[in-house]
Amino acid sequence: MNNQLADLKEAVKSRLDAIKDPLSGKGLFTSGRISGLEVGEGGKVSFTIEAPADAPERFVPLRDRAEAEARAVRGVTSVIAVLTAHEAKPASTGGVAQVKHIIAVASAKGGVGKSTVAVNLACAFASLGMKTGLLDLDVYGPSAPTLLATGARKPEMSDGKILKPLDAHGLKTMSIGYLVEASSAMIWRGAMATSAVRQMIDEVAWGDLDVLLLDLPPGTGDVQLTLLQRVPLAGAVIVSTPQEMALADVRRGLAMFEKTHAPILGVIENMAYFETPDGARTHIFGEGGARRTAAQAGVPFLGEIPIDVKLREASDAGTPLVVSAPKHPVSKRFMEIAEAALGNVARLSKPAPTIRVV
Ligand code: ADP
Repeated sequence: MNNQLADLKEAVKSRLDAIKDPLSGKGLFTSGRISGLEVGEGGKVSFTIEAPADAPERFVPLRDRAEAEARAVRGVTSVIAVLTAHEAKPASTGGVAQVKHIIAVASAKGGVGKSTVAVNLACAFASLGMKTGLLDLDVYGPSAPTLLATGARKPEMSDGKILKPLDAHGLKTMSIGYLVEASSAMIWRGAMATSAVRQMIDEVAWGDLDVLLLDLPPGTGDVQLTLLQRVPLAGAVIVSTPQEMALADVRRGLAMFEKTHAPILGVIENMAYFETPDGARTHIFGEGGARRTAAQAGVPFLGEIPIDVKLREASDAGTPLVVSAPKHPVSKRFMEIAEAALGNVARLSKPAPTIRVV
């Protein structure tokens, strides 16, 4: 392209950028609304404007205005502005119909590091190149706002009904903690909690994801079962400390997931040991309880996560260790566990239905 045409292109660009994109409030160019701008010989200009799939006609006046502005640039002789709307994008509708694998992360008790594991596992899936979501279903004690430092942000709502998940650390995330103060969530009771959960599954624009991790409330009883009956699970991961993992707990978990027809992808032993700088390991909560229990129950064992100060600090700071320190040995553990879990999804789970009728 000669210099004259390049200058002309710049002039058209800045003219178009002076028009505000109605959705983002940024300039049409800066917002990414315009693509494929071409300026050819003789000052012929063409470009494409991306319209929202649900109501492309709303953008006709904008297209006309952009066309007129471009034509007003000195040296431009003709303008073709094409309005395109991609086929209804799942991102504009709610629900999990476009999610390939939904994986639940469960624990028999609270405080075993289930949320810490869920968040880092989700980040591990994302760094394996998968489009990943994390849904914090612990309506009584949501932890995503802290673990992902999303606390002050609020999800946007489109069409007055569908919530957009918050993007954080490469994940699409939703938590009741984004919608209400954590202290008010604590007093919720049965029906309210269930309807909040339903909203976070059906009325969030999860879009097209490879994996959606569900961070369940602690326990393996009816509350959890009710939540799980709403979604087609690819499988479940059970988190435990060596000490707390009792065969009875795993059996309860197995029984619950059996009712949902979801396979157990495996057990993760968290807080497995503490390693001192000289490499000596102390098994603070006992040794290998979860591994043994998994073997006895006939379910896969996915791996151990040690007690680690950096993991605790990264969690409190809202910067998941797998993202903030990917080379850390504990991050590598999470990566290995994520790969093992995915292998088990492929081996154990039935393919998710592509169309769900609810
Ligand atoms: P749960 O979801 O099971 O209630 P959390 O994930 O909230 O548990 O973890 C409880 C606390 O333990 C948090 O402060 C977390 O940072 C810390 N924690 C979890 N796992 C580890 C670990 N492997 N090493 C150090 N601290 C951990």
